[in-house]
Amino acid sequence: KLHNTILELKGNIRVFCRVRPLLLDEGVEDETKPISFPTTTEALGRGIEVLHHGQTHPFMFDKVFMPQTTQEEVFEEVSQLVQSALDGYKVCIFAYGQTGSGKTHTMMGTPGSYDDKGLIPRSLEQIFEARQKLKEQGWKYEMQVSMLEIYNETIRDLLSANKCSTDGSANKQQYAIKHDANGTTHVSDLTIVDVRSSKEVSYLLNRAAQSRSVGKTQMNEQSSRSHFVFTLRIFGVNETLEQQVQGVLNLIDLAGSERLSKSGSTGDRLKETQAINRSLSSLSDVIFALAKKEEHIPYRNSKLTYLLQPCLGGDSKTLMVVNVSPAPSSVSESLCSLRFAARVN
Ligand code: ADP
Ligand code: MG
Repeated sequence: KLHNTILELKGNIRVFCRVRPLLLDEGVEDETKPISFPTTTEALGRGIEVLHHGQTHPFMFDKVFMPQTTQEEVFEEVSQLVQSALDGYKVCIFAYGQTGSGKTHTMMGTPGSYDDKGLIPRSLEQIFEARQKLKEQGWKYEMQVSMLEIYNETIRDLLSANKCSTDGSANKQQYAIKHDANGTTHVSDLTIVDVRSSKEVSYLLNRAAQSRSVGKTQMNEQSSRSHFVFTLRIFGVNETLEQQVQGVLNLIDLAGSERLSKSGSTGDRLKETQAINRSLSSLSDVIFALAKKEEHIPYRNSKLTYLLQPCLGGDSKTLMVVNVSPAPSSVSESLCSLRFAARVN
C-alpha cells in the first residue's frame, strides 16, 4: 500500500460538522441566532455552540464548516481521504442530519452547477484525473460503480434496467449481502457498471436520481426516508512493480435523522421511522465501538452496517459529515445531530 502519513496519524474515524446558510424564508434578522462559532485558539475552526432554552451547549469536532464555506473548501478537506481509495484503502463518507440540513447539497450539490458541485462529483473528477497521472507510473486501474438505496431495511438497486423488480417488494433471495474472505462485498443481483470516466459516472448518477424520484411518489418522500449508497470499487495493477491494490470509496447520503412525532406515526409510517432510527443508531453503535476499539462490533444490527462492514473498521477510513441547519426553528434537531456526532467523535 502507498502511504498517506497525515491520515495515518489522525486515526481512522473523523467527524466534520457543516452548518448551512440560513435560507431566504427562514427566521428573521433580529431573532437570536442559536448557533455560534467560538474563536478561542483551541476552538477556532473546530468548535460550535448551540443556544437552547437559555443554555449554551458547546461541541468540538475535527473540523467545523461555517455557513459561508464553499463546496470547494469542503472538498479540500476531504480530497486526501478520497485519494487514499486509489492507494487501496476502503473509505466511507457519510452525510448525517435532519431533512433540509444540507446532506444532499454536501454530497451531490446543485445538479448542473459548476461551483456548487458536491463531494460525489468532485471525488470522481479527482479520481479519474489521478488515474491518468498514475498511468504514467505504470498503474492500470479498473473502476466499477453501483448505487443502491436502503429503505425499510430493504435494498433497492438504483441502476437496474428492470424497473418492475425494484419496487421494494423483491423476494428474499434478491440483494443478499455476502462478504468473502478478501473483504469484498457481493450483493446478489445488484447492477455493477464498469466505468472509464467521471462523465460516465455522472450519467449513472442521473439515472439513479430518476430511479429514486420514481419511488418518491410511490413511497411517500422515499428519498429523505432512505439511505443512498454510492460505491466505487477500484482495482489497480502495476506490472512493473508487481503490485496491486483494491480500494473502495463509499459515499452515503443518509436518511433524515429527524425524530417524527411519536403520536402522529402509525402503521407504515411508524415502521419506516423505526427502521430509520434503528439503522442510524446501529451506525452510531458501530462507529462508537470502533472508536473505543471494542472487541465486538455490532455490524449485523442493520442492513447499512452489514453492507458496509468491510469498509468500517480495520484499516479503513471513515468520515462523518454532520449537517446542521442554523434556523431557530430547527435548534432542537440540530442539538440532537451534534450530540449524535459528538458520540462517534
Ligand atoms: P437534505 O438533503 O439534508 O434534506 P438539502 O441538501 O436538500 O438537505 O438542503 C436543503 C436546502 O438547503 C436546499 O434548498 C439546498 O439547496 C439548501 N442548501 C443546503 N446546503 C446549502 C449550502 N451550503 N449553501 C446553500 N444552500 C444550501
Ligand atoms: Mg436530501
